[in-house]
Amino acid sequence: MSGPQRHGGVLGIDVGGTKVALHAEAPGRPAYDRTFRWPRGAADPADDLTVLAVEVDRLLDRWGPVDAVGVAMPATTDTGGTVTTWPGRPGWAGLDLTGALRRLFPDAATAVADDGDLAALAEARCAGADDVVYLGVGTGIGGGIVLAGRPVPGRSSAEIGHMVVALDGERCDCDRHGCLQSVASGPATLRRAAARRGGEVGFDDLRAGLDGREPWAVAAVEESCRALAAAVVSLGEILDPALAIVGGGFAAGLPGFVPLVAQRARRAGRPGRPAPPVRPAALGGLSSLHGAVELARDLTGTPAPARPVPIA
Ligand SMILES: [Zn+2]
Repeated sequence: MSGPQRHGGVLGIDVGGTKVALHAEAPGRPAYDRTFRWPRGAADPADDLTVLAVEVDRLLDRWGPVDAVGVAMPATTDTGGTVTTWPGRPGWAGLDLTGALRRLFPDAATAVADDGDLAALAEARCAGADDVVYLGVGTGIGGGIVLAGRPVPGRSSAEIGHMVVALDGERCDCDRHGCLQSVASGPATLRRAAARRGGEVGFDDLRAGLDGREPWAVAAVEESCRALAAAVVSLGEILDPALAIVGGGFAAGLPGFVPLVAQRARRAGRPGRPAPPVRPAALGGLSSLHGAVELARDLTGTPAPARPVPIA
């Protein structure tokens, strides 16, 4: 860090397709938490950036200055920080995000990273482990890999959801067949449950079906957990992490889901190379926001506080 005056403030921004979360913290100041929605309608990045600028002004006025800003993004960005594709807000394709952040925060260090990578970083630090794979099961499957305390591969994001786990599996939204998320995402699991049941299945139906040990629900979830276990075992063979952490809203909402992944992974280990232990995520839906704060903190070179600041 260079610059005339430092205030100790770090800001994390978790950017989503419909809303954005901000968390700022600094020694001696209460934390700042704020969530806002993007404007509705066709996502014009100029309109979105105007809204973001208003929120940044609000933060700086009411809370104070920040030294560093970390941004968690669901979009694919190139190495220069320009958005390549973002299905959530397609109009952002071509936006120079790094330049936009520099204009928004002329006095702070800024960095952008993949939200799955940052979620993995936050979960790894929360677990006190340096080598971790993280799988977030929701609408798709996100995730990340942390080795020696750093997200890898670093030059791009770890696309765990597009690992091929079923050669003749269903078509993924990337158009390939058998990607992990085409088998084990929330919507994929619900689709399979509906096909077996012969009628619509929503998330609450699935949870109730699991409670009642309904065969259609048990079978649909079993297949997802086996696919996730295959991914954990394969990642274990290559990376030998200390832990595999499974989170995401879909996994967190189904009691027994993560233990089943753990059990199936344990069974698939081989002599001399047991599967990494599987644990549930600790930070829930806030993992990528926590990770964005960690990214900002790393920019300042200051170590994390002994106890993480709770996010409201
Ligand atoms: Zn895919």
